[in-house]
Amino acid sequence: MLILKTVAALRRFRARARGKVVLVPTMGALHAGHADLIARARKLAGKSGTVIVSIFVNPTQFGPKEDLSRYPRPFAADAKLCKTLGTDAILHPYPEEIYPTGFSTYVNEEQVSSGLCGASRPGHFRGVCTVVLKLFTICQPDVAVFGLKDYQQCRVIARMVRDLNIPLKLVFAPTIRERDGLALSSRNVYLSTEERAQAPALRRGLLTAQAAFGTGERSAAKLRRMVEKEIRKASLSRVDYIEVVDGESLTATRTVKAGDTIALAVYFGRTRLIDNIQLAEPRRR
Ligand code: AMP
Repeated sequence: MLILKTVAALRRFRARARGKVVLVPTMGALHAGHADLIARARKLAGKSGTVIVSIFVNPTQFGPKEDLSRYPRPFAADAKLCKTLGTDAILHPYPEEIYPTGFSTYVNEEQVSSGLCGASRPGHFRGVCTVVLKLFTICQPDVAVFGLKDYQQCRVIARMVRDLNIPLKLVFAPTIRERDGLALSSRNVYLSTEERAQAPALRRGLLTAQAAFGTGERSAAKLRRMVEKEIRKASLSRVDYIEVVDGESLTATRTVKAGDTIALAVYFGRTRLIDNIQLAEPRRR
């Protein structure tokens, strides 16, 4: 496995790469959720293909008061995990490789990114789109793999890929969770013991709404209130947003249908957790 720190080195690697090239973009601090994406990438690439994992804590997607400087960066452990999972190359660029002095070109998706996390984190998706497009042009993957835990990010990237005719296939993978339902996240390490104990309330709230949808509830407002009620039982929680939206456009829905999504962001102390569920009809036996 190669560890490449410059765009030039990655380009040389890419020029020699054989078979299908599959990219997994990450910010590092890898956990079982990332591991699942990398294992999927390995499968998609096959024996003859090439898996690239990028590890880059992207400064442009953090707001001025967010956790950029304290974001965990355990690179040695990350590299070890990548190697175990059959990664061919890690792109771990110096920040100035990605953002040279005088950098002044950004990508702005203007619809799907406007609500939810886009509303509470102004500029976040501009940073995400910019770095992801750069990773695409640098690595030129045939396939890129993202996690549905960041549901809005998936939809925004899908829109960017369509709008800008980027020639690759996107694969979105389901969320990997702790046994108690908490979605794995690099930010979970910030939680105190008490906050960690309460954090599964997010998943419980979403499952309560899914159960009600399964038995016929179609009012978005009612489903939203059920989620909120469950989360408010966690005394340390502070709701940023809970919204019921169309699964594709992410616009608010009043009467829900299968495929609509409940997305939420909740603070525990200074730590902001996100989660979502795509509402599905219960399976008939
Ligand atoms: P991050 O390092 O947080 O930028 O995430 C890198 C990729 O891993 C993104 O596509 C995320 O959606 C995905 N990811 C993060 N957490 C999980 C999880 N619990 N399950 C599956 N994928 C995840």
